[in-house]
Amino acid sequence: MLLEVPAACSLEMVGDVVEERQAGVNAGFFAGIAEEWRDRVQAYVDAEGSPSAVPTWPDIEYKKNSFLNLYLSPKDGSVQGNMLAAMRDHKLSLCPACGEAGAPNTLDHYLPKGLYPHFCVTPYNLFPMCDACQTNKKDKTGDAADPKFFIHPYFDVFAANQVLQLTIEPPFDAPAFEFGAVPQLPAPQRALVNRHVKELGIVQRYARFFRNQHQRLLRLCQKLREEDLDVETNLGFFRDNAAVPTRNSWEHVFYSAVLCNADMLVYLRDGDFPDYR
Ligand SMILES: [Zn+2]
Repeated sequence: MLLEVPAACSLEMVGDVVEERQAGVNAGFFAGIAEEWRDRVQAYVDAEGSPSAVPTWPDIEYKKNSFLNLYLSPKDGSVQGNMLAAMRDHKLSLCPACGEAGAPNTLDHYLPKGLYPHFCVTPYNLFPMCDACQTNKKDKTGDAADPKFFIHPYFDVFAANQVLQLTIEPPFDAPAFEFGAVPQLPAPQRALVNRHVKELGIVQRYARFFRNQHQRLLRLCQKLREEDLDVETNLGFFRDNAAVPTRNSWEHVFYSAVLCNADMLVYLRDGDFPDYR
């Protein structure tokens, strides 16, 4: 999903962090690289975080830990510590990278801090992510054939729309699920979505969810029938309710697939359900 841009300014963060370092042992180092650091953050923003367009910074490798400590052990009340605390204090109820329900409890570095330590406290490079996504993402960014694996949560504005699509194939009492990018997307965006899904292991995680969700759906439709309520209308309520904050939530993708499938709706209205309900 597309996230609102961070409240803290990524460029001002450089100046504020350098200023705070002026009382410490790294004062000279940070003062010496401040201008280039700021330029590199600006270049990140200009390139929208695209891995192939944002270079690493070999000259600061010997001071890598000084950067990483800004993120890993910020002092209470420090400028980057306050920024990190504010980003962790989000209101999200699902992971913006995969759409699975549950408050994401970690921050991800879009460009990994091990390769790009100078972006470890750059707000534009940080966003909430679930543990499952982070475990799969690790230090990956892209490769020679496909330089960008992941949708950027602040710059890839097309992700504000539904970009994931499920197709449900009969038999509807034990269906097969096909899952991937929305086919109507332009080819580059479709390729990015499919790579993102693959690299974060979303297909395997969705498969279990969809199987369970299908059983819940049959139980729900049985109830609707018993109460003489319209199946399609009520499933529409469930779908619309799951569209906030993103139409890429797992439930919304599921109910959208059901409601787009005329044959399945006939089955849900009139078919014989299996006994496992
Ligand atoms: Zn996730």
